[in-house]
Amino acid sequence: MIPLSEPTLDGNEEQYVRDCLLSGYVAGGRYVERFERNFAAAVGAGAAVACASGTAALHVALRLTGAHHGRTVAVSDFTFVASANAAGYTGADLLLVDSEPRTWNMNTELLRDEVVRRARRGQPIPDIVEVVHVLGHPADMEPLLELRDTYWIEIVEDAAESLGARWVTDGPVGPHSVGTVGLWGCFSFNGNKLITSGGGGMMVTDDDELAGRARHLINQAKVSGGGYIHDTVGYNYRLSNLAAAVGTAQLERLDRRLAAKRAIAARYRDWLEPLGLSPAPCAAWADPSYWLYSVLLDTSEVDVDDVVEALGRDGIQARRLWPPLHQQRPYRRTERVGGDVAERLYRDGLSLPSSAHLAEEDQQAVVAALASTLARRRASVS
Ligand SMILES: *Cc1c(COP(=O)(O)O)cnc(C)c1O
Repeated sequence: MIPLSEPTLDGNEEQYVRDCLLSGYVAGGRYVERFERNFAAAVGAGAAVACASGTAALHVALRLTGAHHGRTVAVSDFTFVASANAAGYTGADLLLVDSEPRTWNMNTELLRDEVVRRARRGQPIPDIVEVVHVLGHPADMEPLLELRDTYWIEIVEDAAESLGARWVTDGPVGPHSVGTVGLWGCFSFNGNKLITSGGGGMMVTDDDELAGRARHLINQAKVSGGGYIHDTVGYNYRLSNLAAAVGTAQLERLDRRLAAKRAIAARYRDWLEPLGLSPAPCAAWADPSYWLYSVLLDTSEVDVDDVVEALGRDGIQARRLWPPLHQQRPYRRTERVGGDVAERLYRDGLSLPSSAHLAEEDQQAVVAALASTLARRRASVS
């Protein structure tokens, strides 16, 4: 079986976990601080706060950005459901924003034009934008910076899928790692992400005071001093020292993981071209991390579910992309701008095996299986 995305655990994970167990500090401890410090340095952020999951990171970051009942958070329509759920937990209303076809990320020009139109008419505008960098490709941030500077709309980045992706231009955004342009950047260390702690997340910001407030909230809002004194409703969102030990070891291999992902992407690009498939998005101003290498099929010729099934019979795990949030039950009545592009991405999109340790022969097998499946389907259509 060639899996879609498996963790690569070939570094100091075992040593650090053993160290943790021998020390007795399995809950809190020094690996948490070390993971935070190294992570902040790796992405170029002022401060990092480790927490229980990427979803928890987004929840706390959004709350600290002012999301609550009566406020509106603009969210990418085409994303994993956790992006929207985290905003929903705060009690804020959501505004779903369609994708643009070039990078599949939030169409930030569409959002900007909508905000300008609403502001001119004196209608309410979103208070916060939660922009997701999907599948390892950075979003186009310039329109969001305009919104921030003109309308005070704060930016929270959901960088859960895009650790290590960068903007490369010398414009107002680049050169920066994803997660370091908004007030907050949030990351996930779930098992299928670029690096894992067996479950976990990280919030980064350049504001030390904000980072302190995040640390307070994830620790039940417990006032320091030893007693059971709590000054607001907090959360139990801490990352354990054991998990941080795994994350610390994983982070040491970040550059290697990124190089592997980019090599896999380059091979897919070369090998899929003869099949008439256009490569995964890569804008001129972006250096993607290619978390899950994904392509769009011509669905007038093939059905994506059939392709997934046929690949599965060959022992290859491929997967469709996400249905747009506006088609998911909890968000069907949510206000939105556009949505056709997200629907098309769902209809046509397919993610291919992308583990960092994917062997070249296995990748060849994926492409060969895809080629023969597409040829068979095309023959049966014509
Ligand atoms: C994985 C993911 C999350 C959530 O991260 P968890 O650690 O699983 O809670 C949030 N947003 C996006 C875009 C993700 O892919």
